[in-house]
Amino acid sequence: MTFSIHPSVDGIRQGAQGFAGGTLVCKCTDRPVKVAVKSQIAHNHACGCTKCWKPKGALFSVVGVVSRDKVTVTENGDKLAVVDPAATIQRHACKVCGVHMYGRIENTKHAFYGLDFVHAELSADKGWQPPQFAAFVSSIIEGGADPSIMGAVRARLKEVGLEPYDALSPPLMDALATHAAKMSGVLKA
Ligand SMILES: [Zn+2]
Ligand SMILES: [Zn+2]
Repeated sequence: MTFSIHPSVDGIRQGAQGFAGGTLVCKCTDRPVKVAVKSQIAHNHACGCTKCWKPKGALFSVVGVVSRDKVTVTENGDKLAVVDPAATIQRHACKVCGVHMYGRIENTKHAFYGLDFVHAELSADKGWQPPQFAAFVSSIIEGGADPSIMGAVRARLKEVGLEPYDALSPPLMDALATHAAKMSGVLKA
């Protein structure tokens, strides 16, 4: 049985201490879009949802978050367009090569407002936080994966140190629920 979790997921590497970010570059050879990320990323993870950008042949994307004020389009931003303006995360993609350069939440009431979602693999800079866990694992079936490989996929994720979850990780699910409880008044802010 052969499948690819993601090209950057083969044994977990360490992020560099004090790493201060780098430049994301799309796949275009002509006039590539460049995005400066002036911070380390957090909560980097393999994501099996059908919305995140995945490299060709990979079952998962790898995506992390960073404060939106650390993200700046520096070159060829005219090539960017939002993939789905109705989505919670507005993914700004290159219209030519299709790569998602950053995803942004514009809803100020969302628990993750203020965070952008980025794919560190688009950067040649070394030291990004490696993936920490795998999210939305069951969703790869919706993306076309054969349900019969799921046992092997989950085993492989555990083998490379990525605990598989069918939603986000428990700390992130707790953060979403805490935000919802504060919004509803169940939990006093
Ligand atoms: Zn491009
Ligand atoms: Zn995703």
